[in-house]
Amino acid sequence: IRRIGVMTSGGDSPGMNAAIRAVVRACAYYHTECIGFYRGYQGMIEGDYMEMNARSVQNIITRGGTILKSARSKEFLTKEGRQKAADNLKKAEVDAMILIGGDGTFRGGKIFNEEHHIPIIGVPGTIDNDINGTNYTIGFDTALNTVVEAIDKIRDTASSHNRLFFIEVMGRDAGFIALNSGIGAGAEEILIPEENLGLDRLLDSLERSRRSGKTSSIVVVSEGDKIGKNVFELAEYVKENLPDYDAKVTVLGHIQRGGSPSCFDRVLASRLCVRAVELLLDGQKNLMVGFVNNRVEACSLDQALKSKHKINKDLLRISDILST
Ligand code: ATP
Repeated sequence: IRRIGVMTSGGDSPGMNAAIRAVVRACAYYHTECIGFYRGYQGMIEGDYMEMNARSVQNIITRGGTILKSARSKEFLTKEGRQKAADNLKKAEVDAMILIGGDGTFRGGKIFNEEHHIPIIGVPGTIDNDINGTNYTIGFDTALNTVVEAIDKIRDTASSHNRLFFIEVMGRDAGFIALNSGIGAGAEEILIPEENLGLDRLLDSLERSRRSGKTSSIVVVSEGDKIGKNVFELAEYVKENLPDYDAKVTVLGHIQRGGSPSCFDRVLASRLCVRAVELLLDGQKNLMVGFVNNRVEACSLDQALKSKHKINKDLLRISDILST
């Protein structure tokens, strides 16, 4: 392998720049050329890339987002689109690709490899942490810290006015962000898609808290929660049924994707991407690098795509105990 391509795809996440830097620097260390494609698969289809060397990634480890930009490419879903991408890789003499993104990115990479036999290594980069084969995805830890900091601020105003706040956090159909930030921020209740709490239990719990002397409450709601009401309807429902509560809603939105990556995410990105380059140079392919039980481990792309990794139900129990 003489030349490795790298790209970032799907939703951006803090730490993607640290990942790009690690790929580029590891390539430089091993005397392998590296080029970066812009806007994920779309840049591969358009042949939009830049040659990268150790100096082209200086000072990016601290920056959120991705200097290579990210995109969702409809064209890559078609055989013709993937053919264009393969032709461009050939023209640019790229022997292998490192794909930094989420499960959609890996699904695309797997099909691309089956059709065009270009070796692929996937690196999990998404704030949602919803990928099998790794305990942590790049960006998850930073997003948690952002969410906890925001909830801390909302708590200040909640406790000054005896208010109940419903705070919607990201995670798509996974509750990892809600569950961990909810515990970290001391939430009263945490609503996640994996475990439907039910409206009655929510009302009971809030009523119990009020009787026990709590003057304000925070409920963290995952955006994919399946309680049957969106976060605004939920607040209305609680106001109708518990008139003592002044219920407010905050949707944290895209601030959760931004910001300088935490040290954890920088180290994770660095470790995963050095291994990704080493695996390719070692002749391996079609793997995803992950972080499992404190070690960097690779699994097949198939395994990474097989099922979402499960939330730790013990965290729900901890949350219940601590909101007593
Ligand atoms: P995130 O988890 O942050 O959303 P993701 O990688 O899952 O990241 P997607 O938009 O699902 O984000 O996928 C990224 C890109 O991968 C898509 O825009 C598309 O170009 C490509 N892709 C996804 N699924 C497939 C597929 N089945 N076949 C070919 N390409 C695909």
